[in-house]
Amino acid sequence: MRTRVCITIDTEFSIGGAFSNAARTPVAEPLVWCEVGGQSQGLGFMLDTFGRYGVQATFFVETLQRNYFKHDPMRAIARRIHDQGHEVQLHSHPCWTMFQRDDWREVASKGRPKDNYHSRDIDDSAALIQQGIDTFADWGLPRPQVFRSGNMHHDDALYQALAKAGIPYASNVAVAIFDCGDAKYRLYSGQHERHGVREFPVLTFADWALGSKQHIKSLTIAGSSFAETRRLLEQARAAGIPLVVILTHPFEYVQNRDLAFSQTRINSQTQRRLVQLCAFLHENRDRFDGCGLATAANAIPATASVSASASASASASAGNILLKGALRHTVPRMAAQVAYHKYGRWLLSRKHGPYTRPT
Ligand SMILES: [Zn+2]
Repeated sequence: MRTRVCITIDTEFSIGGAFSNAARTPVAEPLVWCEVGGQSQGLGFMLDTFGRYGVQATFFVETLQRNYFKHDPMRAIARRIHDQGHEVQLHSHPCWTMFQRDDWREVASKGRPKDNYHSRDIDDSAALIQQGIDTFADWGLPRPQVFRSGNMHHDDALYQALAKAGIPYASNVAVAIFDCGDAKYRLYSGQHERHGVREFPVLTFADWALGSKQHIKSLTIAGSSFAETRRLLEQARAAGIPLVVILTHPFEYVQNRDLAFSQTRINSQTQRRLVQLCAFLHENRDRFDGCGLATAANAIPATASVSASASASASASAGNILLKGALRHTVPRMAAQVAYHKYGRWLLSRKHGPYTRPT
């Protein structure tokens, strides 16, 4: 069986600082298309790259933003993604419900609105999820099969809400991004059933260890070099892990310095990583399958936490294997990341003047 590789893209709009600054308003399309010189270097770049290498991706599209954007700009974006053969699945940030109130500016100014999908009542979460299901129907898209919560939040109540709403799969866990404190959600890889919902966590790995201290990292395009990703994919295959979930966002393919995304430049570091990954998947398509998350989930038996070829030690960990990176990859990646960030800031300053921190 080929190892499935699911590139997942959280596709969302931004509050744009509007909760804390009365002069600001939420930002829609610029955060998704990310234009530089009239060309889309965010979503457009991603769709082109996937198309060139025959990779199907999963776009988790946020729907609660419709509480603010009444003209529904995400509809055209979601349709475009779907029409290009990718999966459109459901992403949801509860903070957007603040806009249901006419006095949202006043309320938000008294304390940052909550954006939590943990410690939330089951029925309340189920209603928010239902808003997403209804939105997909309104957009003429297939019913979502996979859910990803905002901020990767999760707890037992969320899985119960997903089961209630009839969503069979989830990808809410990325341990290095959000750890809910409950050991049964410390999920590094593979698939795991919780309250009747199958969870496919973003791959989390140990990128370095010093003595007894171990640092973990969730696998993202923005955070890991291609050398690291390739090593992890090979390790995952050798360990019999049936699929690897990778996380990214459209806005990570540009460097920006303002919340409205009007001052941007191409992020050639992340763009190169995505091209390298897709080219690798294409060249190694006899061993790896770059496919959507629901497509993978539907094909993998619910009981197959690790394949029969996996080692005894891997089987013993119940399909929750923590892969390990190599320092020879981690250290150069950290250095390159810092250097490129500074370089981008310097170029943007040359073009747009000195940088002042957004308030
Ligand atoms: Zn999000």
